[in-house]
Amino acid sequence: MNKTSFKTLLSLLALAPTVLLADEPPPPEMTEYWTPQPPVVDSPAGGVPSDAIVLFDGTNMDEWVIHRQDEDGDMVARPANWVLEDGAMIVPPREKINGKNGPSSSIFSKQSFGSVQMHLEWRAPKEVKGNGQGRGNSGIFFMNRYEVQILDCYQNETYVNGMTASVYKQHPPLANACRAPGEWQTYDIIFMAPEFSPDGTLLKKATVTVIHNGVLVLNHVELDGPTVYRGLPSYSYHTPRQPFQIQDHNNPVAFRNIWVRELD
Ligand code: MG
Repeated sequence: MNKTSFKTLLSLLALAPTVLLADEPPPPEMTEYWTPQPPVVDSPAGGVPSDAIVLFDGTNMDEWVIHRQDEDGDMVARPANWVLEDGAMIVPPREKINGKNGPSSSIFSKQSFGSVQMHLEWRAPKEVKGNGQGRGNSGIFFMNRYEVQILDCYQNETYVNGMTASVYKQHPPLANACRAPGEWQTYDIIFMAPEFSPDGTLLKKATVTVIHNGVLVLNHVELDGPTVYRGLPSYSYHTPRQPFQIQDHNNPVAFRNIWVRELD
């Protein structure tokens, strides 16, 4: 049999009952198809897949901005002001940079995304300060709304739907895979964007899968809406592509090696 497409395979399967009347099972080729072949992605060991968009490679923060008010009170993008050190970008000491009650330096990606596979590495400060939510707190927000929590939960308990690798205030992780503070940790995340009809009605909830340090901790969980600190989440319409946000929670959490593959 020639190399078969999925369409041809379906029509062949329609003939299956006739074939099954004979004693012999159908030929194995009947249930094999060859086209379309998936695209080739070059993925070197320890490297970045060839079709990924690199958002931080350790050399600069060109893909990220902070938001500040201009003279007219409008929010505008300014260059990201985090500390660049040893191939990592680190949440800056807020008081030093912005004054005691200065604004947060949460960063936003210049590019916008919908559904993605993300790889990200983070490190909580080696010197342990604070406890609960006050220890190595940051977070990666998909579409600037949906937070996968970053927190140092190594021998540090907090509410479980706010711990490391939770969808903040929605889903606790299946395991606590935290490494000790000061060690690099990995997140590999599949985020599927919510879908809305043109009139803004929610058609499909967002879903998230998270692998933390190689351990599956969130398995395709459905989100009930954007992350909120107080009250219950609920969806409201937004456009299908939005920036990422990485949270400045006033703890010097470090990041490196951030890339995404678009799944739209
Ligand atoms: Mg957080």
